Amino acid sequence: MMLQTTVFAAARSRAHGPTAALWHAVELHRPTAELDGACELTVCGSLARVTPEQAWPLPGADVCPVCAVLAP
Ligand SMILES: [Zn+2]
Repeated sequence: MMLQTTVFAAARSRAHGPTAALWHAVELHRPTAELDGACELTVCGSLARVTPEQAWPLPGADVCPVCAVLAP
């Protein structure tokens, strides 16, 4: 039996306009070391800067609700 593991990293989006900065999930296909400071496509389809030292999921309220559903 194959164990399928999808690894997610946490990425912080920028606040723009009335939208607050939120934590998003980014599906990892590369080592997090290569993602340092890069903007990646998040699970919900926006762009956010990956923070490799933050593991997904994050505790707290400022988490993107779409990513929280798609990347549990
Ligand atoms: Zn999101």
